[in-house]
Order: sequence, then structure tokens, then C-alpha cells
Amino acid sequence: MSATATSKPRGRLFFANPGPTNIPDSILHAIGHHAVDFHDPEFMKMYDECWEGVLRVMKTTQHMFMYTGSGHAAWEASLVNVLSPGDTMLILETGNFSESWGRMALDLGLNVRTLGCDWRMGIDMAALKALLEADTAHEIKAIGAVHNETSTGMFLPLDEVRAALDAAKHPALLLVDTISSLGCIDLRMDEWGIDVVVGGSQKGLMLPTGMAFTGVSDKAMEASRNSKLAKHYFSWQVMSARKQRSFIGTVPTNQFYGLRESIRLIEEEGLENVFARHARLAEAVRRCVRHWSGNNGPQLFCANPSRESNSVTAVLMPEGHDAEAIRSTTKNRFNVSLGAGLAKLNGKVFRIGHLGDLNEPMILGTLASIEMALKMNNVPHAPGGVDAAMEYLAAVAG
Ligand SMILES: *Cc1c(COP(=O)(O)O)cnc(C)c1O
Repeated sequence: MSATATSKPRGRLFFANPGPTNIPDSILHAIGHHAVDFHDPEFMKMYDECWEGVLRVMKTTQHMFMYTGSGHAAWEASLVNVLSPGDTMLILETGNFSESWGRMALDLGLNVRTLGCDWRMGIDMAALKALLEADTAHEIKAIGAVHNETSTGMFLPLDEVRAALDAAKHPALLLVDTISSLGCIDLRMDEWGIDVVVGGSQKGLMLPTGMAFTGVSDKAMEASRNSKLAKHYFSWQVMSARKQRSFIGTVPTNQFYGLRESIRLIEEEGLENVFARHARLAEAVRRCVRHWSGNNGPQLFCANPSRESNSVTAVLMPEGHDAEAIRSTTKNRFNVSLGAGLAKLNGKVFRIGHLGDLNEPMILGTLASIEMALKMNNVPHAPGGVDAAMEYLAAVAG
């Protein structure tokens, strides 16, 4: 018998991916519901309550449409409903997700302009303002911005994007992907003048994948009356004529039992407390990684402290060390699942998802497993990152 563990890991999977995220047991139980007629008045009552709950999380009193699909479905809906073939859209390219949204816009027949940036620094708001001011003919009909770039762990201050639009007196619609920020990081759709909020079920809302939605402003509703891109399944005009105001076809009723429980959990904790918990856990992760970065160790991918994400942290490996080796050690040896680096960041970064249903010991377990994996893979680092995280969490635990 040997003390060296080589067998299949036991115990609970520690899931630290940035989407999907952990599904609380109470949500899993709620979803395990028998089939119901989605026209049934009792179901419709709950449907309407869920509807109001999602509006509260988006901080809007305007319109919404829901779809059976992943976040990509809501991306597509946000474009095809407000734009026409050949319209120009400006993508704020902050990472892999904004890049993909831009590719979708191209495929749909839009003319895509891109404002790029150093992915470790984020969009320069002065450059955005100058670009908008230069567009005196108002050719740009919409701006696509990703609130939280899940591929890089970078946050985009939407109030500053709105301020740049206002300063340039530019009428473009503001479309915002909040797929990995909704229910994690404060979002004020109405206050910040966001025209379309794109959200999905499987990240901050802690549900299975398969439901997506768009919050829609009056201005975007107006644009949807004249939009000429082809659409049917995602058409807001077609949906508006239905009793459910959404879902062309069968309503995913089981998702709604889960959604009711998700909203109950979020509001029981308090939306602002949910944001504060995400901020606390994220800061603990960053303190740990900053500590490891001593001795030429791994470092935060985000090099701009004002843009650090409270829902995901991307960790950049030292030159010559493979992020995938760390991910396979944590997964195979400790049953801890981390997010991979996407596209050109594959192998260079791994990502720690700290959004949704998480607490301090879950984060500390993940960080401890990563620190062990760094040792096991001979990756240079300053040991003791987990202590730095514990010290912070103990100090703010109250
Ligand atoms: C996950 C994610 C997406 C893609 O959503 P799917 O549900 O996988 O289609 C898009 N944007 C961001 C910011 C994301 O985090």
C-alpha cells in the first residue's frame, strides 16, 4: 500500500468553471417537476412572477424576450431584431467573446467595425469617444459591448461607455452582453441607458444551460419595427403577439421552476449582497494569484486594476509552462475543474470561475488545489497564496 494517490478522485467535484456554474441543490430539486401545460393559469402565474424577477435583476422596467437556447441565441436575437442588412455595428473587442459576437454579426450580413485594445488593459474610453465623435454621419447603428469578458477576466464599465456615447451625442443603440455578469456584478439597464441586455441561464443565475433572454428598451423596440434582417424564431414582433410574450414553440417549463428558485435565492440573500459576495471572493482569488506571482510565478492576466472581473479570473502562466498541465492535475488528482484558456490564450492561461453558488471554503479548496498543482508541475511561484486569500477573507468576514 502506498500513500501516493493514483486512483480515480472521490468526493464532490469542485466546479470552478466560468460557465456553466454550480447548480444549487434546491434548484436541481425544483427543476425535477412533472410536465405541465404551459397555458395553464397556475403555470402562467409563476411565469409572470419569474418574468418580473428577471426584470428586477436587470434593473429595468422596460421589455424582455426569452428564448430556448444558450447565450448565443440571445446574441443573435439582439442583432436581428434591431438592425438591417449592411448596417454598421461597432464591436468593442476585449477578448474571445466580443470577437465571436462580431463574427456572428458579419455572418448575419452586417458591416462590422472593431475598436480593439490590449486585451490585458481593456477598452480605452477616450479612444471610444473620439471614434464616436468622428462618426458625424452616424453610420454606426449599434455598439456591441461585453460587460464581463469571460475569456480574459476583464470587466467593462458600462456607465463609462454610456458617458462616451452621450458626450459624442451619438444615437447608436447600446447592446450589452451580460452573460457572465448578470446576477454577479451590478448592472443597471435603465440607469445606464442600455438598449439590449443579453443574458443566459447557466452563469450567475445558477441554472442549467438552455434559456436566454434579452432586456429591451423602448428605443430598441422602436428600432425592431423597422429592422430588416431575416428572422422568425427570434422575432420580437412575432413574440409580442403571443400570450407568453416570448418562446415561439413550447415553453421550457422546467427551467421556470428552476428560475423561480434562482430568483428566490438571489433575493433572499439580497441582490446587492450577492454582488458583495462576488467582489469578496474575487478579491481573495486575486490576492492569492498576486502572491503566487512572486518568484516569476503565474500572474493575473488582467493588468488594469480598474477592470478586474468579479466573476472570473484568468491566470497567465510563466513562459514555458503549460496551463493545460495545471488543469489536468487539478481535475485528475483533486477533482477540481478549472476553465481553459480560449482560442489564442489556450495553454497560456487557465481561468478560475468564481460566479454563482460559491462560498469561502469552495474558493479556498480550489486555490489550495491549484497551489499543489503548481508545486507538482514544478511551476515557479511564491508559496503561500492560499494564506493570503485566507487572511483577506478572515478580515472581511465580519
Ligand atoms: C458564456 C458566454 C457566452 C456564450 O454563451 P453560451 O450560453 O455559451 O451560448 C457569451 N458571452 C459571454 C460573455 C459568456 O460568458
